[in-house]
Amino acid sequence: MKVLAVLYNGFKAAIEEPRLLGTVENKLGMDKWLASRGHEFIVTSSKDGPNSDFEKHIVDAEVLITTPFHPGYLTRELIEKAKNLKICITAGVGSDHIDLNAAVDRKIQVLEVSGSNVTSVAEHAIMNMLLLVRNFVPAHEMIERGDWQVSEIARNAFDIEGKVIGTIGAGRIGYRIMQRLLPFNPKELLYYDYHEIPPEAESAVNCKHVGTVEELVSQCDIVTVNCPLHEGTRGMINDRLLSAFKPGAWLVNTARGAICDEHAVARALASGKLRGYAGDVWNVQPAPKDHPWRTMKNPLGGGNGMVPHYSGTTLDAQARYAAGTKSILEKYLDGKPQVHQNIIVGTGKYESTSYGKH
Ligand code: NAD
Repeated sequence: MKVLAVLYNGFKAAIEEPRLLGTVENKLGMDKWLASRGHEFIVTSSKDGPNSDFEKHIVDAEVLITTPFHPGYLTRELIEKAKNLKICITAGVGSDHIDLNAAVDRKIQVLEVSGSNVTSVAEHAIMNMLLLVRNFVPAHEMIERGDWQVSEIARNAFDIEGKVIGTIGAGRIGYRIMQRLLPFNPKELLYYDYHEIPPEAESAVNCKHVGTVEELVSQCDIVTVNCPLHEGTRGMINDRLLSAFKPGAWLVNTARGAICDEHAVARALASGKLRGYAGDVWNVQPAPKDHPWRTMKNPLGGGNGMVPHYSGTTLDAQARYAAGTKSILEKYLDGKPQVHQNIIVGTGKYESTSYGKH
């Protein structure tokens, strides 16, 4: 059986740090195990275009392992060519790089390691809020330049305490962010999700459900995006929705880049409608060198907290998603039932209710 994995290159770092399991070099720690079971294991980072290893090997692979950090985009067209493909496993959380509707049609299962990096991402989102609200990046850049002008930083620095903070999506990550925000004493915690949180869980973090995303953003000083990318969320944060934001709001997106319109966000930051934007996810990954989000700024020259996609691939997270990927694959090979929460698409139908209403 052929198992194909599309992972990111770790180069020198992966050789020096074997806990970088999600790299081409360290192969999710699964190469010896798969070889001992007599399976062929192809691991590559070459993922884009007709001459890529991904497109070459997908035609006869039975198992595809991908990661959101370096997504192998499995389009409907590629699914048509993947005659042997039975199961796609996402090493991490977020399977939008797979055409899920096409997987349903072809009866290809899609599983992810649910929960494996949700704490890692929640911590990153909190860090993003702090660095934007406290105007951290320009302050640090000033220090590296050798300058010292407190007023230039303080003129755009605030506290999280007393702010209205809202999450679009209140699943595993969105809820964890609210739990972590509670000790900062926000004025209000709001969420918008088509799944309402059970009342006990709502009162545990003292949050309130709002009926529409427009209503949410119009009340918030800080908005954080924590829903999957699907037909209902692609391009959701566009010029129209941004016009409903409070002037000078901060926006944190560690969910998926394509939930935001890249140019609308860059314009909103340049005009000051947004005071800051931070996250680690991009509409194309790796992001091109001239992507506007690399260098966009607010009118005072700050407000950009963008980094490469790594919030969910800390070494702690890699240990969890590598173990989870192996466990899903082992169950598949042994014909054992999968853990239900990991199944996004089962045989011929959606099992997860997080990817829109189906
Ligand atoms: P989850 O399934 O536990 O929760 C997602 C929630 O979003 C669900 O409650 C769902 O109902 C809600 N939702 C779906 N569509 C919505 C919409 N249109 N409006 C409002 N809410 C909507 O998932 P999770 O574990 O919290 O992860 C969420 C997403 O975060 C993943 O799908 C992935 O895209 C992203 N993620 C990013 C990283 C990273 O490294 N940056 C890592 C893990 C996950």
